[in-house]
Amino acid sequence: MQDNGWKEHFKNRIISAEELSKYCRLSEEERAFFKTEGKRKQNGQSVTLDFAVTRYFLSLSDCGNPADPVRRQFMPSLSEFIYKEYELPDPLGESEYMVVPGLIHRYKNRALLLVTGLCAVYCRYCFRRHFTGRKKGIIGREELVNAVQYMEKHNEIEEVLLSGGDPLVLPDGRINDILGAIKSRLKKIVVRIGTRIPSVLPQRVTGGLISVLKLYRPLWIITQFNHPKEFTGRSMEALSRFIDAGIPVLNQSVLLKGINDNLRTLAELSGLLVKNRVKPYYIFQGDLAKGTSHFRVPLKRGLKLIDELSKEVSGIGMPVYAVDLPGGGGKVSLPGADMEKNDDKGFMIKSSGGKRYSYPDESR
Ligand code: SF4
Repeated sequence: MQDNGWKEHFKNRIISAEELSKYCRLSEEERAFFKTEGKRKQNGQSVTLDFAVTRYFLSLSDCGNPADPVRRQFMPSLSEFIYKEYELPDPLGESEYMVVPGLIHRYKNRALLLVTGLCAVYCRYCFRRHFTGRKKGIIGREELVNAVQYMEKHNEIEEVLLSGGDPLVLPDGRINDILGAIKSRLKKIVVRIGTRIPSVLPQRVTGGLISVLKLYRPLWIITQFNHPKEFTGRSMEALSRFIDAGIPVLNQSVLLKGINDNLRTLAELSGLLVKNRVKPYYIFQGDLAKGTSHFRVPLKRGLKLIDELSKEVSGIGMPVYAVDLPGGGGKVSLPGADMEKNDDKGFMIKSSGGKRYSYPDESR
């Protein structure tokens, strides 16, 4: 395939119920989502995410089966309109740490730069759904300059994570501009890129992209594989392309109810990652994003599963089970966390800063 063939794949994503229904039998409830969502958007009430799926990712699903683990990741449902009282539009409290538009500085030596709101597939459990979507284009030149200037003044920042949205949906030239702007002023900074591209649009990992990324090593790719079905010849080749170019790859999964919340699936996922030279890095407890409770696994069950997984897989294959504490408490590794059960508030979990944050007990 031509290096630019991925753009056609991106342009041809399925973004409407009408097109989707040519390939998947939609339930009444799924159809209702699309109808209801339009109305809610007009009334300014919707916090739901846009819909898009690549034909590649769709092809990995058994689309006639509503329980299929790939289908569930991209198929919207009316459950997205169920809001729990403890769910938040910005569950990680990122806006509180936004120091200049697009740049989040929460941890002393790391910063997070949101470079686009666009993604190849909109994952229905996305915690950044208040930001992610078609309307959020690409970081502007002025925003980029301001973000770089901020990082220059804060030389305690040693790593920057490019995220969004998905940075790798941007054209090579724009990625080069962003990385060039950062690395020309911040020579020692290590760049990480958070992306779902290898699992949802592996055609994007072209020779051209690799040539750009190679210029800015040390650079790490943090990808997201959630289920063994996401491993195909294409996705495995995409992973190899990064690694063979000296770009290490780590994987962050999300623990998702009905998708990967069983020992067999998690163990298989871990084995596939390791065989493909990818370190299972984190497995995240679901964030408290509005309208995502149908994906969250109760914390106690998650802890039990992870304990079982640790007895099944090697140290290399074992991800860290972590939660991002709601409301800006930051990331905490769950096994061994200082955690108390409180009957009214669920779990009270101590952050690295020593403050306690509540996380609901959803097993009740
Ligand atoms: S690729 Fe990442 S940012 Fe985009 S919808 Fe999925 S989880 Fe959210």
